[in-house]
Amino acid sequence: MKYRSTRGGMQPLPFSEILLEGLAPDGGLALPESLPQIDAQVLESWRTLSYPGLATEVLGLFIDDIPKSDLSRLVHEAYRPGVFDAEEIVPLKPLSDGLSLLGLSQGPTLAFKDMAMQFLGQVFEYVLAERDTTLNILGATSGDTGSAAEYALRGKRGISVFMLSPHGRMSDFQRAQMYSLQDANIHNLALKGVFDECQDIVKTLSGDLAFKSRYHLGAVNSINWARIAAQVVYYFWGWLRATTGPGQQVSFAVPSGNFGNILAGHIARSMGLPVRRLVLATNENNVLEEFFRTGIYRPRSAAQTQATSSPSMDISRASNFERFVFDLVGQDAAEVRALWDELARDGEFDLSYLQPEFEASYGFVGGVSTHADRLRTIRSVHESTGVLIDPHTADGVKVAQQYVEPGIPMLVLETALPAKFSETIEQAIGKPAEPPANLRDLASLEQRVEVMDCDVELVRRYIEQHAA
Ligand SMILES: *Cc1c(COP(=O)(O)O)cnc(C)c1O
Repeated sequence: MKYRSTRGGMQPLPFSEILLEGLAPDGGLALPESLPQIDAQVLESWRTLSYPGLATEVLGLFIDDIPKSDLSRLVHEAYRPGVFDAEEIVPLKPLSDGLSLLGLSQGPTLAFKDMAMQFLGQVFEYVLAERDTTLNILGATSGDTGSAAEYALRGKRGISVFMLSPHGRMSDFQRAQMYSLQDANIHNLALKGVFDECQDIVKTLSGDLAFKSRYHLGAVNSINWARIAAQVVYYFWGWLRATTGPGQQVSFAVPSGNFGNILAGHIARSMGLPVRRLVLATNENNVLEEFFRTGIYRPRSAAQTQATSSPSMDISRASNFERFVFDLVGQDAAEVRALWDELARDGEFDLSYLQPEFEASYGFVGGVSTHADRLRTIRSVHESTGVLIDPHTADGVKVAQQYVEPGIPMLVLETALPAKFSETIEQAIGKPAEPPANLRDLASLEQRVEVMDCDVELVRRYIEQHAA
């Protein structure tokens, strides 16, 4: 299988050639030239597979330049008890009224990003060893992504991680989780500034092409195709666990920000998985909900983006959205280029003439959940089922409830565990969420972090001294 760009300006490349790249050279995003199709018979033959067994089959469809036996080993290393706190890796947890949670947050950082990142850590190390080279991951984080990357890349040969975070602006839990890592290849730099300033330093250093190539700088951001591919697996898994035979339909509800998680659902559906609806849930930052309702895509500025109690969905510009638009416009790369030119010029584009297709052809519907909805949903799910859900998952449950249909299981993707966002939990039910047993003493662990002024030259020097 070869990969092309949504903007049409990249020669087709195999998986391992796009793995370590960010944007395609033409500014677009990598996508398979064509998607593998899975028929009912193959799907039924996958029912008895374990999670890593299924992941080997699904990822094998996207990766043909790593031998299957090696891929299987990497996948079994990534998805095993000990890394994930559930025997089945991704448990299905029934709630009520036809809703279930797809438990994607059993990994080391209690959020669904571990699902993709744990695979990325394995496959990065493998490909770097094959090529006898090294990689320095530079990123900025205000929470989930940075910690998931660090837990996935800790101790990996040939890789160092430099993660910038705003000093004093993360929750105690997030700080303890990241800064307690003692691995020599993990570098936490707490900068005396805000997240956007950390992000600017990353952009400056990655934009310095001489520095970038000399130190093999890379990123693990949400546009990485390997992350999307790894996420496709759990849509298949969810369908297999929620159905008993061929052709039965399932709907998925997805708390969304950068459009990475739900894009994987769109890919799975396009491969022939019997998915009825893909329910996109946003918080108050409803750029994507607005698009699915009106057909107009109008990203917001940072200043127009609200800080909400589901912070991992506080995104103004959905970095993976271009991959879906590529399909919407009939995989016409020239049309994608024209739309993104329009976006740069006018700050929006209009696909309202295609709006009826969103649900009819692609199964997409959307909805918004607010702070009050979040609190009410956390409380009511807790009262009626005893299950405690996190604020992001609550946004998913709230919007899913609008679209439940008799006889069709509705799986809500559990994108984080409540212990990670205990303040909002306390507001909802009057008491904090219990951390998982293995993390109870997290706060007392020694922390390892370099505090420095928000200065690009200080960060540059630090990388020069500590690069892999
Ligand atoms: C990243 C994240 C999301 C949003 O996922 P996207 O792939 O960006 O749409 C939702 N919930 C949590 C907890 C997250 O960490």
